[in-house]
Amino acid sequence: MPTLPDIKRLKPAGGKRSSKREQILDVFLRQEGHLSADDLVDLIRREDQRISRATVYRTLQWMVDAGIARKVDFGEGRFRFEHSYRHPRHYHLICKTCNRSSEFLSSDIEALVEEVAAARNFASSQSVVQIYGTCEECRTGKKSAAPDGYTEQLFARDALRIAIATERSGLEFYSRAARMTKDARGRNVFQRLADEERHHLSELENKYKELLARDPQLESRPTFLFFKGAANGLFAEGAELLARGVNDQQALMIGIRCERGSHRFFKKYGERFEDSDGKQIFLEFADEERAHLDLLIREYRSLVKRQGRSRKAARSVSAATPRSGAAR
Ligand SMILES: [Zn+2]
Ligand SMILES: [Zn+2]
Repeated sequence: MPTLPDIKRLKPAGGKRSSKREQILDVFLRQEGHLSADDLVDLIRREDQRISRATVYRTLQWMVDAGIARKVDFGEGRFRFEHSYRHPRHYHLICKTCNRSSEFLSSDIEALVEEVAAARNFASSQSVVQIYGTCEECRTGKKSAAPDGYTEQLFARDALRIAIATERSGLEFYSRAARMTKDARGRNVFQRLADEERHHLSELENKYKELLARDPQLESRPTFLFFKGAANGLFAEGAELLARGVNDQQALMIGIRCERGSHRFFKKYGERFEDSDGKQIFLEFADEERAHLDLLIREYRSLVKRQGRSRKAARSVSAATPRSGAAR
């Protein structure tokens, strides 16, 4: 997945303030959704009659090559273009009645594609998933809550929902671990992590409220990110293991496994997304999970050391204690 070039740097240095290319780029980036080349020509002509069709076509091809635009084939016999600026990669649902499309992303589909490619030793560069059919609005007349071009907001909303769910299950995990840990130092660590999770949770919830304030309908819009294997499952599983009864060392080990899984999940997805609020949310969350992981690993090591010392001490105590009948 190529990362998006810095658009400012693509502009010719010292060139005219607004070349034709910049003008076309500017109009294109202001559009949401999926445009045909002719749609773009019409839009450009509205602003500047002097720009030729050929120039628009050439510029579109340049934008595709530079990774600013993606070319999509909806099976209409012509290509459409969408910009990739702050626009996460996605798959499409395409309505054959109204020709509108909506976007989604599924970690399960991505995992499956990766698995197949790896099994066949295939270096994949792009995968396209298009689901054709009839949209809800065309079938039932019910107005759609997902107008084209909403992907960035939906992505940020869903990224936050996933992070919040993970934070909640993390909080539950650490609260439980703190309650059942006998080692005082270990208990403190779990308590501290629970407090941190609580603090992060309220930060995330505030961000979520800010998003809702910008778009009161946001809650009712359809899901963009389908992340069945998301990291909150890890902590829920960890909490279940705790409930079965484990010792301090095992509790730390379970915590380490959860945090490592969570860190990897958010980092992997964060890094692969195009620059956007959703990407930021994933990467910041990955950093927090990394910090928790480091803390747990330090604590695990020092607990093992302390236990080793006390075991040795216990051994030397019993060795120093003369036992009756012990051969010397
Ligand atoms: Zn439709
Ligand atoms: Zn799209």
